[in-house]
Parts: sequence; C-alpha cells; structure tokens
Amino acid sequence: MMIVYRFFILLSFFIFSFSLSAETLLHYSLINPKVETLNLVADQFEIVKKTDDGYEVYVLKEKKNQFERLTKKFTLLSNDVNALLKNPQFNNQYKNYDQVLNALTDLIKNWPQYFSEIEYGKSLAGASLKAFIFNPNNLDLKIAKKMLITAATHGDELVTVEVLLEHMKNMIVGYGNDSRLKNALSDKVIYFIPVVSPDSFNRRQRYVEGKDPNRAYPWPSNENSRQRVGVIDQLMTFFEQEKFYSSLDLHAYGEMVMYPWGYTTTAPDAQSKTLFDQAVFEMSRENNYKHGQISTTIYVAKGNSADFYFWKYKTFALAAEIGKEKIPNFSKIPQYVKETKEMFYKYLETF
Ligand SMILES: [Zn+2]
Repeated sequence: MMIVYRFFILLSFFIFSFSLSAETLLHYSLINPKVETLNLVADQFEIVKKTDDGYEVYVLKEKKNQFERLTKKFTLLSNDVNALLKNPQFNNQYKNYDQVLNALTDLIKNWPQYFSEIEYGKSLAGASLKAFIFNPNNLDLKIAKKMLITAATHGDELVTVEVLLEHMKNMIVGYGNDSRLKNALSDKVIYFIPVVSPDSFNRRQRYVEGKDPNRAYPWPSNENSRQRVGVIDQLMTFFEQEKFYSSLDLHAYGEMVMYPWGYTTTAPDAQSKTLFDQAVFEMSRENNYKHGQISTTIYVAKGNSADFYFWKYKTFALAAEIGKEKIPNFSKIPQYVKETKEMFYKYLETF
C-alpha cells in the first residue's frame, strides 16, 4: 500500500513539474518542399519563417515522427527551441503574470486620470483576464475610436510582454511632454492586453489546452469546425462588445508586420489593401521589418486573430513578429523597445 501511495506521489510530482515547464519544440528547416508537402506541413505544424530556399517549422517533440514521415528534405536546426526557458535563472528574469499585473497596478495608482483596467474573463486556472485602458483625453468609451494592442497569445513569447510593458510605461509616464502622442490620441483610446493566455504564459508554453491559440479563431469558410480555446473565445466576446477600430497582435519572432488575409493568398478588398499597405510600409520604414499580407509574407495560416477581426468587424487588424530571436537574452529588451517604438507610433498615427 505504501509503495502504491509513494508511486502516486511520484507520478503526480512528474505530471505537475511537466505541466509547469515549456514544451519541447523542435525547429526544422524545410528545404524547397513540394506544394503538397508544404500544405500538409502547414495544416499540422507551425511555419514560422520563410527563407531563401524554404521554410522554418516548429514541431512538438511528441509529433517528431509525424513530421519526419512527411518529407526527407529537412534539417534539424534545434532540438529544443525553449531550452533557455527551462533554466530557472534565465527564465526568472522574465515576469510571470502576477508580476505583470503588479507593474500595471502601480501605473494605475500613479496615473488614475489616464489609466484603468477591466476584467473580461477568467482563464481555466482562474486567472483574471484583464485589459488596460489608456484614455488620456477622458473620451466617452461608447463613441471613442478604440485601438487594441495584444501580446502573449502564444504564452512562450515572453519578449512580447516585456516590450509592450515598456511601451505602455513610457507612453503613460511621458504623455504630458509627448506632443506626437498627444496628436495621435486626440480622438482615440488604447486598450492593452499584455497577456492573452496567462496560464500558458506562466508555464512558458506555446499551446493552450494542447491547442494553438492563434489557430483557434474562425475564418471565412470555417466558422464551425475550428478548435476552441477558452481564453480566445473570451477575447472574441470582448472584441464583439468593444468593436475595435484597429488592432495589433504581437508575436515573436521574425521582424515582420503583416495584415490579413492569412487563410488565403487572395488579397483583401482594394480599399483596405491600400490602407494596410501604406500602414505596414510606414510602420516598418525605420526598423526595416518585412511587411505585407500574412499568407504571402510567411505562409497560409488559418485561424489567426487578424483574419477574424478584419472579417467580422472590418477592424484594421495587424500582426507583428518582433525581433530576430524567439527568446532573447533579457539584457536585449531595451534594444527591442527601441526598434519597435517608431512602429508603435506609426500604428497609433495611421489608424
Ligand atoms: Zn506567436
């Protein structure tokens, strides 16, 4: 009996510790794949980058064989993309969800006339899903033009949260002396959701409940058969309620800023395309990020946030992949903030 008991203690310890650490993601480069192979890969795995002679793909360790059966033309670039996150010393430099909320609560205390928060739901583990509202001109939220900036849809893209927090702090604290920001925000309010997926963010995991949250939105022609993710469903409800005029969803990495569609290579309507092209051109003028439509800049990605918001609400919805590496050394954060600042300002000025 004692042995059985000990076994269960040990087993639950392993399950617990496993669930707290980042997934093991293999990083492959796929060399000049045939179209049919590429389509199969794109449907089951995540294409993260287009290169000169092919694509780069993330594959969960559990699905290694499934991937390697599809093609022989690959090279393994990394056995564990998230290896650094399993080193506590490295990992602990990046904030967890409570620390993010604490930093923002301090800002609210110091700038209550500008800055507030709203809870729009709960995660599976019971974390409060929060949006933070920067409304420096005290505009009526029922009629103001609303912009949304989100980060950590993928919980292991920690740098997106740190960079967004820095921008938020700089904008709020510096607002009084920032004539450019004042002009941009004269008729606008910014909503920030610094962590879309708090449970997976705390665990440093990409997937939520085993599913990719940025493939969990409906898209035209596939309204009902998508995989559902709780935090995404709640964000969709919040979006429906707020009807954002524009949105910017931050991911890492790849140095790209993109617009819908992702689910098809067909371009959006001409009028929207003109505005999108102009916006991403301006946004990337200083940092030289690649820019264009999602499906042609990376590859066809179905179920992403930008497609859904643009499709359902005509929102000017963008996605940015920031930086050159997925998990930069923490000391590089100021550099990331610097290289994305103009991109943020241009976004706020354009829409
Ligand atoms: Zn991402």
